[in-house]
Parts: sequence; C-alpha cells; structure tokens
Amino acid sequence: MNKYIFVSGGVCSSLGKGVAASSLGALLEGRGLNVRMVKCDPYLNVDAGTMSPYQHGEVYVTDDGAETDLDLGNYARFTTGPLSRANSVTTGQVYDAVIRKEREGRYLGRTVQVIPHITDEIKNRILAVTREDPDNDVVIVEIGGTVGDIESIPFLEAARQMIHECGRSNAISVHLTLIPEVAGSELKTKPTQHSVKAMQEMGIQPDILICRAPAMLEEATRKKIALFCNVDPEAVFTSYNIATTIYEIPLVFFNQKLDQVILKKMGVESRHANLKAWKSMMEKFHAMEGSVRIGIVGKYMELHDAYKSVYEALFHAGLECGVKVELVKIDSTPLEDGAADAGKILGKEGRAVDGILVPGGFGQRGINGMVKAASWARGNKVPYFGICLGMQIMVIEWGRNVLRWEDADSTEFNQDTKHPVVSLLEEQENVVNYGGTMRLGHSGTTAEPNTKIMAAYGEKQIFERHRHRYEFSNNYRKEMTESGLKLTAFTPGGALVECVEWPDHPWGLGVQFHPEFKSKPTAAAPLFRDFIAAVRDRHSEASNPGKAKK
Ligand code: GLN
Repeated sequence: MNKYIFVSGGVCSSLGKGVAASSLGALLEGRGLNVRMVKCDPYLNVDAGTMSPYQHGEVYVTDDGAETDLDLGNYARFTTGPLSRANSVTTGQVYDAVIRKEREGRYLGRTVQVIPHITDEIKNRILAVTREDPDNDVVIVEIGGTVGDIESIPFLEAARQMIHECGRSNAISVHLTLIPEVAGSELKTKPTQHSVKAMQEMGIQPDILICRAPAMLEEATRKKIALFCNVDPEAVFTSYNIATTIYEIPLVFFNQKLDQVILKKMGVESRHANLKAWKSMMEKFHAMEGSVRIGIVGKYMELHDAYKSVYEALFHAGLECGVKVELVKIDSTPLEDGAADAGKILGKEGRAVDGILVPGGFGQRGINGMVKAASWARGNKVPYFGICLGMQIMVIEWGRNVLRWEDADSTEFNQDTKHPVVSLLEEQENVVNYGGTMRLGHSGTTAEPNTKIMAAYGEKQIFERHRHRYEFSNNYRKEMTESGLKLTAFTPGGALVECVEWPDHPWGLGVQFHPEFKSKPTAAAPLFRDFIAAVRDRHSEASNPGKAKK
C-alpha cells in the first residue's frame, strides 16, 4: 500500500499545519498503518543548520545527523516512524541536486527547467521515502508556506502531478485554512473559499479541509464551506482553539472522525482505532497537581520556537512527574553584568525558580550570565540541567569557582585563555565551512555505574543525538575529577566526556548530547523526567517538610 497525503495551508501562516499533519499521522498510526512524514520547505537554504534560531527557531537534528526544520520535531513527538535526511526536502537541496546533475552533463544537452526537472526532483525525493522503506503504508507530505506564495509553486505542482499519477484514491489533498471571526460577530468563510480557489488554480482540488477556528464550526457553516469549496460536508473539520495542550489535537480530530473519512477516501478498509497512549497522556494532563518553576537561562529567549524541543520535553517530564512546569525564560545577558545579583534575577517575581536549565547555544554573548546561574544553582543546591552548551558551562564554572582559574573558558569564547577547559578536537580545528560540519547525529554513550545518568536511563548503553563542535578538554580530566567534579559518561572506549555531575548536590547534571530531541508526550526523555522529579521533590520538601512524593 503506497498512499500519499499532501497537507497544504492557506490564508496565512502559523495555523498549526505541522501539528495538524503530525496529529493526522498519530491517528493513522492508531489505525495500525505505517506512516512516514515528509516536510517540504520552500527556502533556498540547503538545510536549517546555518539559520539563526531567532529567524527560524530551533534546528531539529535527526539520527543520521541532518539539521532540519523544527517541524520534524513535531513529527517525532506525535508519530513513531523513522526520520532522517530523506524526510526533509528544501528548495535549496532540490536546486543543488539539479544543478550538480546539469554540471555533470546528465541532462544530455536538454534545457533544464523548473518543470519538469525541479518538479521531478521533488517527486523523486518524496517517492524515495517509500522506496527505501517498503513497510511503509502512507506518506504524509507537509508543504511549507501558504498557497499563493511564489516559492511553494513547484512543490504544489509536484503534488498535483503525484495526485494525477497515483490516482485519487492513492493520493489526496488535505488543506488547512483559517476561519476568522470579525469583530466579535460571525465567523467568516470567504478567506477559506479564496484559499481553496488558489489551490484549484494550481490544479488541486482539496479532498479534506481542516478549518482553524475559535470554536467548533456549526453544521450550517460546514455545509456552506463544503458547497463553495467543492468538498463533501463530512470532509470539513474544525481545528478549534483548545485550552489544554496541542497533544489533545489527535483526539479532537478523532472525535470528528477525520481518520475514518481519510481511510474511506483512500479506499483502506476500516480497522480498529487504538488511541490508548493519547488518552492516557490526557489523563495524566488532567491529573497534574501544583507547579514548579524552571528557569531556562539562555540567549534566544524572545522566540519560543528557538528552544522548542526543550520546552516540549519539560512539559512531557511534567506529565510524567504529575506537576505543571512553568517556564521562566531568563535572558542570560543582563545576568552578565558584574553587579547583577543572580539570586534576584533568578528569583524574579518574588519567587525563586525551583530549577535551572541551560540549553544549547553558540557564541560568546550571555555566557558569563549562564556561568553565574550555574554557580547559583550549585551553591544553593537548586537542581540544574545543562544541555550541550549547558554542560560546557558547568565545566567552565567549576574551573573558575572551584579550581580558581579565573580565565577558565571554552576556546569558542576565548582563544587565548590559559585554561581552555572546553576546546576543539584536532579534527575540527581546520574546518572552514559552517554547514553540516559539527559532531552531528546519533551516537553511543556509556554511563558509569552508580551515577544519576545511569539511574535515569536504567542502562549503561545510551543513544542520543549530538550537535556541537567543542568538547570537554581531556587535558583537564585529572584536575577536574580530583577536585570533585564527577565525569559519569563517556563515548564508548572512553575517548570523550559525555556527562558531568556535581558532587553533594540534589541533581546537577550536564550532558554533551541533546536528549530533548527524543522526548515524547507519551514517553518523557529520562533525564528530563529525573530533573523534574528532583525539582518537584525539592519543591514539595520546601513547602511541606518530610513529605516529598516518592
Ligand atoms: N557551542 C557549543 C559547541 O559548539 C555548544 C553547542 C550546542 O549547545 N549545541 O560545542
């Protein structure tokens, strides 16, 4: 069975196309189908690796080390199929491939054009996902951008051709639009009608409409949309604003029978739906009691998407630990000021944060503020979780405050330091290109016995993803350990340090890898779970001495 579902968006951006596509994936998996997700991004960057987190949000890293759009993170949180380089297609990659072939003379002298050469390359990349994975039943292809954008035209044309070539029961179009409410009066369907018209001009008649609306659309509105947009009334769905969590959306769609309608359109016989995992996740959501405040100390604070997977993983951990996680976003730059009182900044709004997380990052700005936050957490025995840069910060802080090397630093921030406690591996020293040249993707880590990292994973062998250039410097292993810092996990064979832990501290741990990428609402990442559990226990111990939850 090779079926394709093309998910496009209209009217405006930020309607939650990624979440809608992922929720659809979750529903079809619930029906026992093998689902693969593909994102088509109309930008000219070859991948998201070189894009600023401010402009584009986080870079999501796959097992095979692709630096992709953050939508792949949504796919990973909602669905279970493998994700790799092949699941992310950008205009940059497509043109790069076509131009290379042209230079190699592989077009045999023909004129190379957007149609058919660019569109063929797009189709080939989508088809490759199924070719390399014969167990696959359905590929959900999310087309980035909004219909009407110049940039997305080749992708929509490729979708049109695939729908034509595969036949309507094998390839369908799901279109997401907005139903706005004008000045508190009624809901307006006209933008949706225009958006569907734009799809029809591209030669695609949407089979399914998902309408983003403030509340569930009434029957009469659905009928009107169906009539003017040429779709079945039963194929008009509402993605209404929900007060709970985006992870309820699969159930919201399920209650409207979205999966049944899609199976019918694709000629797949109806099968039992199993959404147990999503239902029990929602039960956990409603059972959460109280809250803990986590200070995220980083430098890309204005844009929520910049640390998307980290925030999601904290939420998942809260679900598992039975507490709401309040995110307190703390810009590390003001903390850098020598006169800034860490206790005051971290205790914003009169209540100190219950835990500190320093996420990944690049560049010098804000680093000293992060070091100050780490020192505050270590001294006050506040749980601390360092991810990638956040682990390097722990090492720098230890060097400066315990070993008393004032200039201890990473060579990323200070090339001339006499104490480069974090530095480049030799093989990275001569790298000049920025794109795709870091230590990237899935690799193994071995945890030492009787450590917090081992307790979290419950086993020695850990597999997580990396995205960094700098490393704990092995020249300092001896002094660091002799002064008490615990090195608790290594690359297999022991060549590189992967985890450090503070001694005599409730939970202070940093890892060189990124556990946030593998966290799911239905299965929190072990380190996030244990971090939040430590925070919760310390918090309830403080407000209710002697009665910490087990
Ligand atoms: N800038 C650091 C490095 O390159 C950390 C990277 C990260 O946090 N992802 O090693």
